[in-house]
Amino acid sequence: MLTSDQIKAYALNELGVDKIGIANIERFEDAPDFSDPKNIMPNCKSVIVFLLRIPRGCYRGIEEGTHWASYTVFGYTGIARRLVQIGYNLSKYIEKKTGHEAAVVSSATTVPERGPRGNAVEGKARREVSVHHRIAAFLAGLGEIGYSKVFLTEEFGPRQRIGVVLTELALDPDPIPIPHICDRCRLCVNSCPGAMSKTETVTCTLEGIDLEWVQLETGRCKQAHFGFDRKTSPFFVKRFPGVYMPMEKQENTWLQAHDLGHALFDAQPTLAALAHHEFYLAVCGARGCHRACMKHLEIRGKLKETFEKKVFAPMKYWELPEEPEPTKYHGLTYGPGEEMPDEVDFFSGGSWY
Ligand code: SF4
Ligand code: SF4
Repeated sequence: MLTSDQIKAYALNELGVDKIGIANIERFEDAPDFSDPKNIMPNCKSVIVFLLRIPRGCYRGIEEGTHWASYTVFGYTGIARRLVQIGYNLSKYIEKKTGHEAAVVSSATTVPERGPRGNAVEGKARREVSVHHRIAAFLAGLGEIGYSKVFLTEEFGPRQRIGVVLTELALDPDPIPIPHICDRCRLCVNSCPGAMSKTETVTCTLEGIDLEWVQLETGRCKQAHFGFDRKTSPFFVKRFPGVYMPMEKQENTWLQAHDLGHALFDAQPTLAALAHHEFYLAVCGARGCHRACMKHLEIRGKLKETFEKKVFAPMKYWELPEEPEPTKYHGLTYGPGEEMPDEVDFFSGGSWY
């Protein structure tokens, strides 16, 4: 029979995960109902959680304002795909070696509008539930949920993504460390384009530990991630210079923001190219929740993974003007005094992003 140590050694050495921990199912007693692993696997005994680090260099192009593809393609969706493959190999390994079931859990259905809906079976949880990956990672002893709601580890700070495998195999759990990485500096909130509430938080108690993270407006986060924030995205503003959608006024749901993005990507050459390659874009480059937090933790010397250049970049960001300038070109109409060009070529590249 496989032990916790054997599973961890396989995942670390053969599958290349960067960190792995295990929670027993009892720890999920106080977790939100919709994310109880037993909804998915009624005889689940253990929840295995593993992490893949996001290379620090993936954020570099967005930080410099020069290149958006690395983070989107490698740091965002590419790592998510690798997690699925690792989960598949790990669950196959457990089933083959022990005869106990193992299931990879995707977070793909956790968006409320796409997630839990309807009751497939009377008296059972609604269908398409998932496991809250960050809570699972916390309960498996891998780190803590920061004020930003992003999972933080001692090694990488906010730079990782999470995979989850449920199994009916009973395994020794890891201890849960008391949260100590996040110091509530709120730089994540202050650097976010406007998706994090300035006042409201979410609280819960798990395994006797009180947790609190910021209330996140997922529709606004999606809009910023899809490049509609004029301060942090040069794409939308170039194509639709007269349209101003201040983040704090946006009431779109996640799905509406998502659909708006996919309706408009084709009109913005860089985003069209990215969207044809990846379904999800990450134009804001996790400016507050990852990059500001990473810089802060590096400045404080809090992270175990260190670099020659000790701190990724100064806290100050480049920023584009937030509001349209009235005398400038708006859409297909020039302002007073502006000359109309003979031809407008939207797709020739040139000064376009
Ligand atoms: S920036 Fe990081 S350390 Fe500071 S409050 Fe946000 S999550 Fe916590
Ligand atoms: S991804 Fe961007 S918009 Fe969303 S929470 Fe992070 S910093 Fe804010």
